[in-house]
Amino acid sequence: MELCDLTIHELREKLENKEVTAADVLDSFLRRIEAVEEKVKAYVTITADEARERISSDLQGSLAGIPLALKDNISTEGIRTTCSSKMLENYIPPYNATVVEKLNEEGAVILGKTNLDEFAMGGTTGFSAFHETRNPWNLEHVPGGSSGGSAAAVAAGEAAAALGTDTGGSIRQPAAFCGLVGLKPTYGTVSRYGLLAYANSLDQIGPITRDVEDAALLLNVITGHDPKDSTSVQMEQADYTAFLKEDLAGMRIALPKEYYELDYNPEVKESVLAAVKKMEAEGAVVEEVSIPSIEHSVAVYYILATGEASSNLACYDGVRFGYRSKTAGNVAEMFRNTRSEAFGEEVKRRILFGTYILSAEAYEDYYVKAQKVRTLLIKEIEDVFKNYDLIVTPTTPETAFKAGAITDPLESYKMDAFTVPVNLAGIPAITIPCGFSSANLPIGIQIMGPRFGEGKLIQAAYSLEKILQLGNKRPELEVR
Ligand code: GLN
Repeated sequence: MELCDLTIHELREKLENKEVTAADVLDSFLRRIEAVEEKVKAYVTITADEARERISSDLQGSLAGIPLALKDNISTEGIRTTCSSKMLENYIPPYNATVVEKLNEEGAVILGKTNLDEFAMGGTTGFSAFHETRNPWNLEHVPGGSSGGSAAAVAAGEAAAALGTDTGGSIRQPAAFCGLVGLKPTYGTVSRYGLLAYANSLDQIGPITRDVEDAALLLNVITGHDPKDSTSVQMEQADYTAFLKEDLAGMRIALPKEYYELDYNPEVKESVLAAVKKMEAEGAVVEEVSIPSIEHSVAVYYILATGEASSNLACYDGVRFGYRSKTAGNVAEMFRNTRSEAFGEEVKRRILFGTYILSAEAYEDYYVKAQKVRTLLIKEIEDVFKNYDLIVTPTTPETAFKAGAITDPLESYKMDAFTVPVNLAGIPAITIPCGFSSANLPIGIQIMGPRFGEGKLIQAAYSLEKILQLGNKRPELEVR
């Protein structure tokens, strides 16, 4: 294995022992990018010069000299932040997102900004206005999305780890499709300041990493109260690495029967259930539960997310920043032409849908009803956590599919069935690899916890990772 195939903690050890220098590490990643990026296309912008400049100073902190990637909807001062949209193709933020400040304080080296479905709307990274990203495990397949660039970069050795954002599964689904660990934190624990919003009540930033230990390390850095984000919670600074222990004894795990009764890829279901059996063998108590409203999650999510998106994206009108149409004769035409020319098909679909949902005629019937079902779902999930520590499900109903295989929007929305309840309830969840399909594509298992239950999630995921021992498998990309 080359340096660029190692985890953050392995790199840290080598750097601390002075076996290697930050320059050796950076070179290894840049060489890998040079070799595979043409095929994987994980990045929108590569900041190799800035990275070289950065390691020339004496970096200190828990991430000193560690090369990371950032999803391109997270603001970076002086570095363009596009949301993979023509609307923001040339937008250069004047400030850093809080998470970027935190990574910088800990000495991290940013390699670049990764591709996403435009404004984080999608599950394939095929809705980027610039290019499609492909899955390093099989270049004909999608990496998932919307944080597909972040996941593909980490899987291919083009970054040691990355930050993604998760509104309805966009950290967990691409992590699962690319054989990685993805953690969506409790709503409010990671500042959203500087994250270009898709749906504020659902969005959270989180880590995509090669193992659970790295997820804990990054979570330690990015969590914490931020006065610049009004939804950020006041909390004690936790040390999530304290939960990196192998202990499942007495842990109570709930399996929602509504999910296991559904019909989906049997290889996924079997692999997840086999992993659950192994947890049981290590002393976990596993029982079936019912969460009746969970079957409405996809409908509720797409009503609320598109409603919020329609209002969030109203600011892109060609006036203040971003793209402006050159073909307009008056102001109203300028708004219309700007938005028609610079938003892609999926973003437009969601703006139209969301604007309708929020209209006077439809608001009570859709938006208000969806909010009520959301409240019901939160209550049902809270009830489960009165008796159980964790809820375990597959992360996705399928493994990574071929690019272009799913064209019907409703079909693709249904793929989010297992991930969206987590965002609706504001709870944390982690995905880790639990096996491979017969086509050698990774399968992810999802572990959900109660609000602020990241510690237990990490403990369970770490224990399972040790039992399964899949950690060292890397995709065999032909290197040029
Ligand atoms: N696939 C979901 C959607 O398209 C989730 C996206 C996300 O989490 N950003 O909305």
